[in-house]
Amino acid sequence: MQSKNKHKPTTHEREHIALIKQMDCGVCGAAGPSDAHELNQGQWFTSIPLCKDCHQGSFNGIHGQKRIWSVLKKDELSVLNDTIETLMHGGARC
Ligand SMILES: [Zn+2]
Ligand SMILES: [Zn+2]
Repeated sequence: MQSKNKHKPTTHEREHIALIKQMDCGVCGAAGPSDAHELNQGQWFTSIPLCKDCHQGSFNGIHGQKRIWSVLKKDELSVLNDTIETLMHGGARC
C-alpha cells in the first residue's frame, strides 16, 4: 500500500529521476549510477544523486550517521545546489 503523500511520478518527474540517477554521487563523487534521494518525500525535482554508502550506509549515509557528510562539509542543500549547477550548466567546476 502506498503512503498518502507519495503520488505516482509523472512523466516529467520520471525523466528527472532518470537524469539524477545517471549522475555521480553528489557527496563523495563516486561514479554513477546513483540513488535519487528525495529531500522531501514525493518532491522529485529536489532529489539529489547519492551512492549507496552516502545514501544508506549506516556510518556515512544521510539515513545513518552522516559521517562523510560532515567530513566533506556537505548537506542536502549544498548537494542540491551542485546538482542543479551540473544539470543546468554541465558542471562548470572542472
Ligand atoms: Zn558517495
Ligand atoms: Zn534517501
